[in-house]
Amino acid sequence: MSNSIYTQYPPDLDSQQEAFLIQTVKNWTVEHALTVRPSAAIVPTEFNSGNTLATNAPVTLFPSPFPESCFEQARGLQQIYNELYAAIASDEQWLETVMKELIEVDDFLANLWKIHLDVKREGYVQDMTLGLFRSDYMLHTPEDGPQSLRQVEFNTISSSFGGLSCRVAEMHTHLATYPSPQHPVAYPPHPLFSNSKETRIKTTGRPPVNAAVSTLTAGLAAAHQAYGPSKSSPQLPTCVLFIVQDTERNVFDQLALSSFLHKEHGIPSFRLPTSKITTYTTVASPPTRPLIYTPPTDKSTQYEVTVVYYRALYAPTEYTDAQTWNARHWLERSAAIKCPSILLHLAGSKKVQQVLTSKPPGPDHLKSFLPKQTDSTLESLRSTFAPQYSLSSSDPAVPAEGIKLALDAATAANHVLKPQREGGGNNIYRTNIPAFLKSIPESQWKQYILMELIHPPKDAKNFALRSDGAAALDNVISELGIFGTCLWKKTPGGKTAEILHNTEGGYLLRTKSKESDEGGVAAGFSSLDSVILY
Ligand code: ADP
Ligand code: MG
Ligand code: MG
Repeated sequence: MSNSIYTQYPPDLDSQQEAFLIQTVKNWTVEHALTVRPSAAIVPTEFNSGNTLATNAPVTLFPSPFPESCFEQARGLQQIYNELYAAIASDEQWLETVMKELIEVDDFLANLWKIHLDVKREGYVQDMTLGLFRSDYMLHTPEDGPQSLRQVEFNTISSSFGGLSCRVAEMHTHLATYPSPQHPVAYPPHPLFSNSKETRIKTTGRPPVNAAVSTLTAGLAAAHQAYGPSKSSPQLPTCVLFIVQDTERNVFDQLALSSFLHKEHGIPSFRLPTSKITTYTTVASPPTRPLIYTPPTDKSTQYEVTVVYYRALYAPTEYTDAQTWNARHWLERSAAIKCPSILLHLAGSKKVQQVLTSKPPGPDHLKSFLPKQTDSTLESLRSTFAPQYSLSSSDPAVPAEGIKLALDAATAANHVLKPQREGGGNNIYRTNIPAFLKSIPESQWKQYILMELIHPPKDAKNFALRSDGAAALDNVISELGIFGTCLWKKTPGGKTAEILHNTEGGYLLRTKSKESDEGGVAAGFSSLDSVILY
């Protein structure tokens, strides 16, 4: 199907239909906890437990069209991506070579690396690692070539929105089937919502079921089981610990996982804000170093933590003092399985993603990390990479090519400059790149990578309903995330991973105004969306 699908979508709404749809969405989101905490309502209290206010998460009124072949390609690659990142995080030497230059100029990465070295010196007491991953893509749609799937980035820490994205797919399905005063269903008729054989368009008519919650929780449960019984004496009950931000707004996304973990797996979990880690946990003495959690409200019951699941501590701004760095070190040296370990956190750097794009005659990292995969699988993986360049003047593979592209306004216009950061709002775009680079010392340039821009379809439109209740039809860009989980054990003394659990399941579609370069929902740029496959 041509891009004309986008010019006729979504269907027109008159003011009555729009008002009905918005009201229905507002009610549905609150009814089903497709919600976030309103920013003004956060009063930092002990664990924020006194705050029960919620408002709708930013959502689109309609699902967005997405080609089924690209959706299936992304799903098909996920377990291979999981395996790739397990292999990278297990090869400390390789990672060190990549990180070396960055550490010289980036204090945040240097501090993380130092924690790893300190724990290594003392001796790690846990050889398993859990990854809850999300691989993000856009639909590259060049004027003069075929449409293809291109990876924006691969997330190895705090990959969020699995909980809420399941609910968006349910909400859009509800709207496609629920009666309205104006139409048999809340959506006006459109060929994409019809799975009748008579329509020209081949479509499923509904968003596919989203399995993100069951997939991510199964990953946590697999790690919890693999940890085994308590190592303490006397033995303690075990639990999973969610490390969260003190002023987290995306609470309901996280609660979707902890509730499911309890209901379907019978595993207790607790939420611990970063500022309280050292108050409510202890690392028991050698040799096994179990992590003990004492709930603040019931000091008589202690738990041993099997899995530390980070939904925080991915950004330098969260490390407000030495105590927070202490806390990260504390958790890393414990026996709990970390999701992610420091090495896996670092494996998710944009720099690693740039280095992976190298191919013969340069080093073929994909082949060496995935020796058992066929050439055609590796080619499919590689086809999702956008061209990326190092900005290090000492890069032997492509000396200074990235620097040349970044400094010339004409070539910079088709690129984005990325630092080694997560969470949105950190990149420099297009013609701002040359002036930005010139404003900082040349010795700092190597902490960035340069990436060619992905060009998503031009004519896409959707309605977005923001958390403050405003709704607008806009030209939009969508980013697809595919969730995957992987649990592995480092081979003794070796640098490879023995995979214990590797799954794909669930997706996130985030849709933002075309005018906005950045894409985070939490950062306030995007709305949660679902796909309608064609
Ligand atoms: P973060 O880890 O902060 O989310 P990303 O690499 O995902 O960093 O970049 C943030 C946003 O910038 C993305 O969600 C996307 O909207 C935009 N972006 C990043 N890389 C590209 C690219 N190559 N082409 C177009 N947009 C991009
Ligand atoms: Mg990221
Ligand atoms: Mg991102």
